[in-house]
Amino acid sequence: DGMILSHNDLDHTGGTASVLQAMPVGWVATSQPIDPLKSVSAIPFAARPCRDGVNWNWDGVQFDILHPERNAASNDTAGKRKSHDNDQSCVLRIRVGRQHVLLAGDIEKHSEQRLLDKHPEQLPASLLVVPHHGSLSSSDVDFIAAVLPDYAVFTTGYRNPFHHPKAEVQQRYLDSGAQLLRSDKDGAILVEMNARGLSIERYRKTHRRYWTHFPQED
Ligand SMILES: [Zn+2]
Repeated sequence: DGMILSHNDLDHTGGTASVLQAMPVGWVATSQPIDPLKSVSAIPFAARPCRDGVNWNWDGVQFDILHPERNAASNDTAGKRKSHDNDQSCVLRIRVGRQHVLLAGDIEKHSEQRLLDKHPEQLPASLLVVPHHGSLSSSDVDFIAAVLPDYAVFTTGYRNPFHHPKAEVQQRYLDSGAQLLRSDKDGAILVEMNARGLSIERYRKTHRRYWTHFPQED
């Protein structure tokens, strides 16, 4: 199998060593050189470029990288603005039959606009992993309208210092008709997809025990 490191931020690369130990990984793709200090251990083989236009098919499941653009610089991470790193995130679309999932990394509005310009027909998705953990930097209303997800997944740490996801961003997805899933409240979110549809499992709901409790509202 393969592993995609969306960009060079610890919350996206920090588990690299554990994943490499836990399962066989045939290749790694990334849009930026991975800083060994950030990824805990060096990747034992050369990473593939993660670029718009890269695609592959496994057993009838289609994978398409939609972002960053093909000629994006790959060696300019040091000293650049944080948002620049975020906009280098790999954006991956997974398709089975008529079901689509979109994983948007930490892209910000500038990159959302690029996707609207370059790939409008590839944005609609049943499930969206919301850009940048529900930050105000992302999830422009035009982007949400183009994706129009049934499920909006917020990957957020419990009581994270950035206060992600922002209430205003959550409201935008609710207004679009999406159902919200949050890793800080739902725990692990398991998504199974086939040509007929999606099934969602929320760990804290399916494994509820009397000694666990649901986090309080902020
Ligand atoms: Zn992140």
